[in-house]
Amino acid sequence: MTPRIYYPNTFSLNQEIRLDLKVSRHLLKSLRLKPGAFIQVFDGKGNEWTGEIKKIQRSQAIIKLNKQIDTQTESPLFIHLVYSIARFEKTDWVIQKATELGVNKITPIISEHGEVHLKEEKAIEKKLSRWQSIAVSACEQSGRAKLPDIERPIHFNNWINQPLSGLNLIFHVKDGKHLSLRAQKAPSQTINLLVGPEGGFSQREVELAKQKKFELVSLGPRTLRTETAAIIAVGLIQNLWGDMAFKG
Ligand code: SAM
Repeated sequence: MTPRIYYPNTFSLNQEIRLDLKVSRHLLKSLRLKPGAFIQVFDGKGNEWTGEIKKIQRSQAIIKLNKQIDTQTESPLFIHLVYSIARFEKTDWVIQKATELGVNKITPIISEHGEVHLKEEKAIEKKLSRWQSIAVSACEQSGRAKLPDIERPIHFNNWINQPLSGLNLIFHVKDGKHLSLRAQKAPSQTINLLVGPEGGFSQREVELAKQKKFELVSLGPRTLRTETAAIIAVGLIQNLWGDMAFKG
């Protein structure tokens, strides 16, 4: 398989690029590529090229972009996963899988029954750059040329009070009547989906979401862990209305 690398620049056909030391080290030392080898380069905005390693100068690879590729790995939907942070390792996992599944935007939220309190500004910055690099690796691996936006963590109350458009869904275990995803009208494009923490959404949060016209949706009779719920919700949405539909 041709190695794919994320390189966030503006490119043009036949352009020669001197890759930075970190990327060059990955290609030349880890993957042991030599001049003449082909790679794919994507810019994170949906553009992708085939490039050839022309030469190596001072441990840096010089590549030439010889063909633009029409990468078609984006869903027709715009899926925004709003995920209550529980433990950070789980958030890492959710970001990786959600990126593979074609999510366009991920907003980590801090909700009443969540266990995480983000006080340290620096800690947030650190997490954000880690989440960004997890998304980059997931794009490299899954063939996506467009990176999902990963927003700064925000409190539930602040997030829910923003103007929202599209189909708004809140996944919730309790609270009487729930619709299944199938009962929803097919969305035109944007879907905002809210998934709660291990402790679930508080009644107050559910009421706020209802006021904002969120539909309560069920994922069946079993209580799933937060990360399972997030990933299966995205998978079901892609299957029902997106690009994972079985067209037999
Ligand atoms: N005791 C919590 C409650 O009753 O809400 C359980 C929360 S569950 C571990 C974590 C989150 O995953 C929930 O807030 C919800 O967003 C989602 N979830 C898990 N199972 C679900 C189901 N069967 N239907 C809808 N959402 C579910």
